[in-house]
Amino acid sequence: MMSPGGPARYDLPTMRLGFVHTYATLPERCYARSEPTPVADPRLVVFNAPLAVELGLDAQRVQPLAAAMFSGNQLPEDAEPLAMAYAGHQFGTFVPRLGDGRALLLGELRGRDGALRDVQLKGAGPTPFSRNGDGRATIGPMLREYLVSEAMHALGIPTTRSLAVVSSGEQVWREKPLPGAVLTRVAASHLRVGTFQYFAARQDREALQALLDYVITRHYPQAREATSPALAVLQAVAQRQAALIAGWMSVGFIHGVMNTDNMAISGETIDYGPCAFLDHYDSNQVFSSIDSGGRYRFANQPAIAQWNLARLADTLLPLIDADEARAVDLATEAVRGFGSEFDEQFLARMRRKLGFFTAMEGDADLISRLLASMQRTTADFTLIFRGLASVAQDPGRGDELLKQFSADSNFATWLAEWTARLAADREPAPARIAAMRAANPAFIPRNHRVEAALTAAESGNYGPFNSLLTVLQRPFDDQPGMEAFAVPPDPGERVLQTFCGT
Ligand code: AMP
Ligand code: MG
Repeated sequence: MMSPGGPARYDLPTMRLGFVHTYATLPERCYARSEPTPVADPRLVVFNAPLAVELGLDAQRVQPLAAAMFSGNQLPEDAEPLAMAYAGHQFGTFVPRLGDGRALLLGELRGRDGALRDVQLKGAGPTPFSRNGDGRATIGPMLREYLVSEAMHALGIPTTRSLAVVSSGEQVWREKPLPGAVLTRVAASHLRVGTFQYFAARQDREALQALLDYVITRHYPQAREATSPALAVLQAVAQRQAALIAGWMSVGFIHGVMNTDNMAISGETIDYGPCAFLDHYDSNQVFSSIDSGGRYRFANQPAIAQWNLARLADTLLPLIDADEARAVDLATEAVRGFGSEFDEQFLARMRRKLGFFTAMEGDADLISRLLASMQRTTADFTLIFRGLASVAQDPGRGDELLKQFSADSNFATWLAEWTARLAADREPAPARIAAMRAANPAFIPRNHRVEAALTAAESGNYGPFNSLLTVLQRPFDDQPGMEAFAVPPDPGERVLQTFCGT
């Protein structure tokens, strides 16, 4: 038994997965050892065999044991479960103690690419951080995380991954009884801005330094050579976040709950709660039922990421420079740097979407006028960009696109300017068409499709979930027979609100 004194696990067959336990080498106050609470009737709902292989696992040996191992009923032999400590600003209000209230880190695996990844169970029962929560999760939100995180990965956007969902055979009470489930999440790490905040709030300089060293080893090894490694880490996190948020903005993704405990130091998208994708373009779009002030609305995401980085900077000040005023100056500059880095990354993404191979003076203006036109006409964000790729292929398709902008007389002018801009690049058409198709997905997890798949799954029908998952694994390919998944919702199908489901 792994943890002496812990509750006995069921006596089911299990195996070693090859875990290492680097997080557990941090000071003990960084985590709490905690055992999963077994569930009544674990059944494997979905298993990500290709991801298992990437993690260096023998998928065929793992899968038959997955229901037991990834429910927590019979953990892998070499798992040493722990709940991580963290704090966080939730909607701008600081909460000094959050932590993994329903998640357990089993250990880390070194993948085929040589990188270390966390394997975590989400919904495995109460931990010392559960406060009043039950430590459980329901099947809808866990399948939602599986679906959207795997879709994001296929879209080329850094994200945590999903290895499995196991239904628990138990009811979980969320205003009404819902079927329970456990998700196995895989992440570059689960370190958050809030992890640093937890120790900064306690003025625990020793733990902050240990965390910083850990982050350098795991994510930013080049920072060790810098004059101020803490500053170098802050700059590197700002860069990764700029790239990440630019990725979100380029596919119409709204995270929905960008609290500092939901911002990963690694630069991966983490915590798929009330997230959603834009159908029609509206820069002020909010889906989350709890975001009444619109703090996390679509267009505010870069500003919020920068605000979160400023909170990370606060925690690192004593490590950046012994001279406080100098530390503040350096940190301020690093946080400001996010702004220009984001603009650059976003422009680069949008140039690729519009088929530009070079950078020209008027590009930013062309992009903002297109978005303004989309905003006025409520054109579908995904279809317009995919449509432009079709127009690049066959200029005769321009009329089809114009129809979607019938309410905006400026769009015909825009289209002519864009065509002229393409010609200025002198890139052969086939290369441009291929590049545009690879930058503009046909398929995104449309909210009405996601809702329908999850509703069916809640009553035991996984067919729609599996079809949607299959389509979303190749978002840039035309998939004959699957065209319906690319279609925006009818007015009556539109999802107006999404929920955390915690
Ligand atoms: P989230 O909204 O998922 O980012 O979670 C915010 C905080 O609430 C984290 O500390 C979670 O661990 C905790 N939490 C969310 N749901 C539960 C639950 N069902 N039981 C215990 N803690 C929870
Ligand atoms: Mg969270």
